[in-house]
Amino acid sequence: MSVLSSDERVKILSDMIEIQSVNEKELDVAHYLEKLFNKHGIQTQIEQLEGESTRANLVAEIGNGKPVIGVSGHMDVVTTGDDSLWNYDPFKLTEDDQGRLHGRGSADMKSGLAALAISLIEIKEAGTLEQGTIRFMATAGEEITSNGAALLHKKGYMDDVEALLIAEPSQDGIVYTHKGTMDIQVVSKGKSSHSSMPELGYNAINPLVDFIHYLNNEYSKVDIKSDLLGTPTMNSTIITGGDQVNSIPAYAESLFNMRTIPDYDNNKFENLFNSIKDRVEQESNADITVNPYVNRDPVYTKGDNEFLKLAKSLGDEYFDRDLEVTSSTATTDASYLMKDKDDNFSFVMYGPGETGQAHQVDEYVYKHTYLKFIDLYSQLLPQYLNNAN
Ligand SMILES: [Zn+2]
Repeated sequence: MSVLSSDERVKILSDMIEIQSVNEKELDVAHYLEKLFNKHGIQTQIEQLEGESTRANLVAEIGNGKPVIGVSGHMDVVTTGDDSLWNYDPFKLTEDDQGRLHGRGSADMKSGLAALAISLIEIKEAGTLEQGTIRFMATAGEEITSNGAALLHKKGYMDDVEALLIAEPSQDGIVYTHKGTMDIQVVSKGKSSHSSMPELGYNAINPLVDFIHYLNNEYSKVDIKSDLLGTPTMNSTIITGGDQVNSIPAYAESLFNMRTIPDYDNNKFENLFNSIKDRVEQESNADITVNPYVNRDPVYTKGDNEFLKLAKSLGDEYFDRDLEVTSSTATTDASYLMKDKDDNFSFVMYGPGETGQAHQVDEYVYKHTYLKFIDLYSQLLPQYLNNAN
């Protein structure tokens, strides 16, 4: 017997979609969840992000003592892009005649977050948890820097967690390892002068061009591949500099995006960038700054644990299929949440929605998939904890 009907379950998702938490306003989602949890006697804690009045994480817990399982999802969504391309109002959950629920965040990942929240309520009300703790962690800022997850990690919410489930859209395969990401800003500073008297200034563009050239050259020698995650990637994606055609530019910058793997991780990239900086500065009077401003580690686990096995066997059963157990090129909050965990840690990314639906126009999740995930989580979490020694 479930506590919440299908209609009530869809209404909760619909309410959450209507909160336009596009890279902000997670606090509104947190307040919504707080009210929902409190109605069912579940205690919550809101953790505000420093210096951010509209951004916060929410933590809720049921049960007590060990073992502790963490379940997590992010409350932010990405921008809708060009709204004219949408056939549905992105912030009004709309069902089509094929049973798909459309809306920004329907897949990535308010359906996963809502399913976890509702499963907590179901487990609490049904009294099915015999031992251990389920800690629900809703995060802010996942789509940009994972600063919400970084705060939870810093505050110790992961210290006693033995298994972590992230409900990112991955209904077609259970993910236990994924790439990291990194964004680096490289700034070259010079001195402006009139272009007829360049000797009075220092051109900031030239050393930056050298930097990019040397970097690409050096990186082309990297020959590393992981069986699971493939190769790391590095791309210069934005370049800007100068402000007037007859002025020597005092400033130039380039942004780089990397996808990292354990064998060529974020530290290796940072070291590579710093070695190129040293080289360019030795060759000239350049003033280069290397600033890694997004830094999310790859997540690597062996994928050999009871939690993953149980998730797969229930997934197979609920959806009548043989689920793939796999890796992902996407990054999740696990990059921060699992910072101190080793490769034996039990990590599972498994949630409603097709991975390919993330960030799409007319984003959707199948209603029956969303509803089934609530039942699946409501069984998975207590069953795992009750059977743990
Ligand atoms: Zn996501």
